[in-house]
Amino acid sequence: MTQPDITVRAVVTTDGPHLPDPTTRQDYARIYVDNGWKVFVLSPSKVPVANCEECAQPGYHDTVEEKEACTCLTCHALYAATDDLDRIDAMLARHPDGLLAIRTGAVSNLVVIDVDPPEGLATLANMKRAGVIRETAAVRTGSGGWHLFYQHPGGKVLSGAGKAGPKVDVKADGGYVVAPPSIHPRTGQPYTWYWDFPTAPRDVLHPRLRAHIQPPEPERRPIVPRDYSTITQNRLRGIVRTLLNADNGHRNDTLHWAAAQAGELVASGEITEQAAYEVLAEAAERIGLPPSEYGSAPHRGTIGSGMRKGMRK
Ligand SMILES: [Zn+2]
Ligand SMILES: [Zn+2]
Repeated sequence: MTQPDITVRAVVTTDGPHLPDPTTRQDYARIYVDNGWKVFVLSPSKVPVANCEECAQPGYHDTVEEKEACTCLTCHALYAATDDLDRIDAMLARHPDGLLAIRTGAVSNLVVIDVDPPEGLATLANMKRAGVIRETAAVRTGSGGWHLFYQHPGGKVLSGAGKAGPKVDVKADGGYVVAPPSIHPRTGQPYTWYWDFPTAPRDVLHPRLRAHIQPPEPERRPIVPRDYSTITQNRLRGIVRTLLNADNGHRNDTLHWAAAQAGELVASGEITEQAAYEVLAEAAERIGLPPSEYGSAPHRGTIGSGMRKGMRK
């Protein structure tokens, strides 16, 4: 097996909170939380801890919000990640052999480039030759790969296998990485910071690497079709705008309100029920509501009940 010719050199800083010798999982967890990272615990085999009986039921705590709000200590894998040290201590106490892990993505202001040996090391060498790898905080993984820690650039950066190149994954929104002082279950080797302290600055992604892993969002067609009178279009746009700006906790209520408004337009003959449904469903999708909630057809779900209310007026 080829040894990595790695020169992702650590930039050691004296800034930030110092613990002289982080040795325990608790010590490391504190440093991670001080860095603004959200932490959770995996089982010793590197897979997430199983959900409790209740949370394992199909349909129970289905959405991201429900998973994040779940009060169980370790249910829902990365969604259990927290910066609450008491909760982290309780997780560690409950899973004495558990591996410490960091949730990546905007929640932790982290994008991690995950290099899997041996093929990924060759990819990394090519990326370095191409000049797209900036020196940054790095972890040598227990399997001989690397985790390169960068600042999250904002917007959405989805996680994906091989997204940065052959065997070089991106761990960002919706992802996580195993973190020191965890031991790799297969090799028995520890994950280690590449230098002696993990509070080095995280660089920003090289613009070309960022463009590669964060392609611009495709332009989306306007939600409200142009084939209505200006007055109707404006009313629909106003309804849609309110819906798109709904707070996370009020998306369903706001959709119900929006559907009732649209129902009035249907009742006055300005728009068909089907067309109103399509506009509302598209907006509901964009704010992340599932069809099971907003309604898979005009008479169903929140849209159906809201429109019925508006049409009765
Ligand atoms: Zn649970
Ligand atoms: Zn739960």
